[in-house]
Amino acid sequence: MKRALITGITGQDGSLLAEFLLERDYKVFGFARRESWIRPNNASHLADKVTVLFGDMSEGVDIVTALQDSKPHEIYNLASQSRPGESWDRAPETLMINGMGAIRLFEAVRHTCPDARVYHASSSEMFGSAKTIPQNEDTAFNPANPYAAAKVYAHQMVRICRESYGLFISSGILFNHESERRPLHFVTQKIAYGAACAALGIKDSQDLNERGHPIVEQGRLALGNLDVARDWGHASDFVRAMWLMLQQDKPDDFVVGTGKLHTLRDLCKVAYEGVGLNWADHVVSDPELVRPLETGQTLADASKARRILHWEPTISFEDMVKTMVEAQVERLNSRPRC
Ligand code: NAP
Repeated sequence: MKRALITGITGQDGSLLAEFLLERDYKVFGFARRESWIRPNNASHLADKVTVLFGDMSEGVDIVTALQDSKPHEIYNLASQSRPGESWDRAPETLMINGMGAIRLFEAVRHTCPDARVYHASSSEMFGSAKTIPQNEDTAFNPANPYAAAKVYAHQMVRICRESYGLFISSGILFNHESERRPLHFVTQKIAYGAACAALGIKDSQDLNERGHPIVEQGRLALGNLDVARDWGHASDFVRAMWLMLQQDKPDDFVVGTGKLHTLRDLCKVAYEGVGLNWADHVVSDPELVRPLETGQTLADASKARRILHWEPTISFEDMVKTMVEAQVERLNSRPRC
């Protein structure tokens, strides 16, 4: 039986990947912070199916111990401070987890289990204000926030460890991927939540935004720049790509994305129309929520992943948004109203 260790198992991708690997008869180990695991989290329903090893990516000894205890064939390094917007206020911590955490893991693999195959979560945010559209594995990085800068560091270390030590580490340069498991502070989930509140007639939401105000206040959802355009896919499709990368003969870097660009305005339209409403009656653009430096238009050229991994997205943008809104309606309906 193959053994896999997933860092960040409590997150969106970690929990979906754990399900994917369990379906393929892997013995799955999760690396998680103790306080996160004991709270309800995305992988709580897998508690009796996975073995959780407690630790923090900022502690090298925790990582070494997890590798010694799990003896993994495959390692998926998904743990990160994953919010680009928040990384402005938490730049040193973001570098410590996303940059240093990754190199701690690679070093631990080198000394503990050098034959293990490693997937590392890079990000399309590394392209930042890219000079060319679409972006592929050869496009120059031009990070536009502390999160992206830390991801570039770790991405470069993947190549260096591959070339210097012969480690099998593949990087997935994944474009935005969402699901009903996205935390509420991500804009896609906020929009799904806003549409669900509007559908249920909730004018002031219980859940708060990053400024401590109700996400929906007096019937309005406040967002930043609505012209921001991204290549959004469904996370279930993307965790399959991670696994495919580790089934290849040699490690490599792969861009993964749908190749379709949508603006936040498009996302609002699909979300609110899905519940029979006009988004413009419910959404406002608030200049205070615009990022200091916005990542430019990122659009995936995933032709290498299609050619070598035979990877294709299977869930459309519209279906993804619809599922997220439905999940939020269900969640709000299951709560007592004040
Ligand atoms: P997520 O839901 O925010 O999950 C991040 C995970 O990292 C959580 O389990 C979190 O645990 C864990 N983590 C954070 N700091 C940690 C630490 N110091 N020690 C141990 N664990 C820690 O993110 P995601 O959307 O699943 O993304 C997975 C990976 O892909 C991330 O590296 C992200 O940057 C990258 N990525 C995501 C996207 C996307 O669109 N989703 C696109 C490109 C790249 P806690 O529960 O303890 O916080």
